[in-house]
Amino acid sequence: MSKIGFIGLGIMGVPMAKNLIAAGYSLVVYDIAEASVEKLVSAGAERGCSPADVAAKAGEVIITMLPNSPQVSEVVLGDNGIIHGCRGGQVVVDMSSIAPLVSRSLGGALAERGVEMLDAPVSGGQEKAEKGTLAIMVGGKSEVFERVKDILSKMGASVSLVGELGAGQITKLVNQMIVGINIAAVAEGMSLAKRCGVEPRRVFEAIRKGLAGSQCLEDKAPRMFEGRYDPGFRIALHIKDYWNVLETSRSIGSSAPLSAQVAEMMIALAGEGNDTLDHGALGLYYEKLNGVSLRERE
Ligand code: NAD
Repeated sequence: MSKIGFIGLGIMGVPMAKNLIAAGYSLVVYDIAEASVEKLVSAGAERGCSPADVAAKAGEVIITMLPNSPQVSEVVLGDNGIIHGCRGGQVVVDMSSIAPLVSRSLGGALAERGVEMLDAPVSGGQEKAEKGTLAIMVGGKSEVFERVKDILSKMGASVSLVGELGAGQITKLVNQMIVGINIAAVAEGMSLAKRCGVEPRRVFEAIRKGLAGSQCLEDKAPRMFEGRYDPGFRIALHIKDYWNVLETSRSIGSSAPLSAQVAEMMIALAGEGNDTLDHGALGLYYEKLNGVSLRERE
């Protein structure tokens, strides 16, 4: 198996890269944070000096798992970027959650060097990254997808090709819209129950198997009742995703009023210093708005 390049070793990148090593792949890795690189080197990976160096040392596939569009653009096109070390026939698989338009434009720049690109953002947090059970949504050419599918399947329980380059990011944005709005709906409903003197936990038990039931209700309502907002998925990351939702929807004149509203709620939470909490902390927003506590025990 040829060596895989892996750039971006944060909360998600470290366990994803470790799963590839556990599956028998050899890796060459890079991150601006030396401590993160060390974690992978001690697990058997080779150290790369820059994204260009990783591209030069990697075989067919180079994976990136970075915070957002500016970092992915820098890693691909910057002074020591992948573009300066890559060669024809390689594939860049960007698994970060970034703006779809940026994915498409990076894919265009790489194509001029004969390098293919897939966008392959993920759903599922650190725990699923560790277990290798992420949901991976991929955009790009189907023949390129077939070449990297086995590698992706070592990091995810589901690996779905959803369309052309950028379609993976669009799918991820849709996911984030639905999740954020759903959590806000849970918090809004539960705070009404509390204001009316009906115990939210009993409302939850009564409705969870009906049409209002959802993975968000199952995961986030108990957190609100326990006041447990450790991440999870951080508010700061969800705000970043909402920026990408609104930038995308506005650029094509598609209206997304609920997303704009929930983004504002998250911005208010972040403004109070809660940006590192789980996005279930929308419960705190509604507690303040309605003067109630959703907690069962103070
Ligand atoms: P993170 O901030 O923990 O990790 C990002 C890593 O990129 C860091 O190690 C950082 O040092 C590195 N980095 C930043 N700029 C760099 C550069 N120019 N060159 C090399 N390395 C650089 O983020 P994360 O939580 O691992 O998330 C990564 C992506 O996955 C994000 O787009 C996020 O939205 C998405 N995501 C995260 C989660 C989650 O629960 N954390 C879930 C699903 C998707």
